Amino acid sequence: MTPAPVAGVLGWPVAHSRSPALHGYWLRRYGLQGAYLPFAVPPDCFDSALRGLQALGFAGANVTLPHKERALTLADEATARARRIGAANTLTVDEGGIRADNTDAFGFLESMRASAPGWRAGAGPALLLGAGGAARATAAALLDAGSPQVRVANRSYGRAEALADALGGPIEIVAWRDAAAAADGALTIVNATSLGMVGQPPLDVSLAAAPREAVVTDLIYTPLRTPLLERAAARGLRVVDGLGMLLHQARPGFEVWFGVAPEVDESLRAAVLA
Ligand code: NDP
Repeated sequence: MTPAPVAGVLGWPVAHSRSPALHGYWLRRYGLQGAYLPFAVPPDCFDSALRGLQALGFAGANVTLPHKERALTLADEATARARRIGAANTLTVDEGGIRADNTDAFGFLESMRASAPGWRAGAGPALLLGAGGAARATAAALLDAGSPQVRVANRSYGRAEALADALGGPIEIVAWRDAAAAADGALTIVNATSLGMVGQPPLDVSLAAAPREAVVTDLIYTPLRTPLLERAAARGLRVVDGLGMLLHQARPGFEVWFGVAPEVDESLRAAVLA
């Protein structure tokens, strides 16, 4: 008898991860045998934990902070999109070894398309605030989906330069103090900094210059409605919260590990928020 597939998430810390609730919901909803568990793996144990996945017969795993770059380095193979982003969040394990993928860019695009019908990256320039790991995945998504220009503003200018060097393409680096002015003409505005998250100061970038058709999204999902999204909505702009990206990025992993293409809907959102 083939054992039921097992997967999990490796992070440090991992208690905050919503992935067990998310995959657990899908397993119950589709009546599947299998398990998805959280694993708190300190950085100095990550290499052996990763190798152990194969020995233990895992179908795969998600990796979250701070292991995303190391997972890409250790994997036996990696998808082009993971290499381009420079980090992995989804691993598939079989007799051949460990295959690393990055589904954050996919999650970003699927969330935008689902939550802002008619939105197209190619319709006009984007303003991306931040240049960390999430920003890199978002920039790759926007460029690959045809954005004619991605304006990147980050507190540390050098990190924005590193992002532009790694990805290539029509990226324009904007000084952090000029971020508000760079909203002029931007049809997509993304907060990929940690500003606005519970316990962090709010993101203090004015949206006054943003066009009326702009869609504003925040990758943060705690809170679901960040101060940035509140200000955007008050100006009548369309807003997309960060939970959709989290839910959609999980789809490819669930499908290969458990064999069902899962759906993102309101009941999943409610289950994960609960
Ligand atoms: P990183 O630590 O890699 O990057 C943090 C970013 O925030 C950097 O651009 C950093 O700028 C900026 N930042 C932090 N503090 C300040 C400040 N005081 N002023 C200005 N800029 C600041 O984190 P990630 O890229 O992994 O994550 C960023 C956010 O995205 C997090 O809130 C995370 O929860 C969210 N996220 C959401 C996902 C989803 O599925 N919805 C997926 C992944 C992340 P600098 O370079 O100057 O330090």
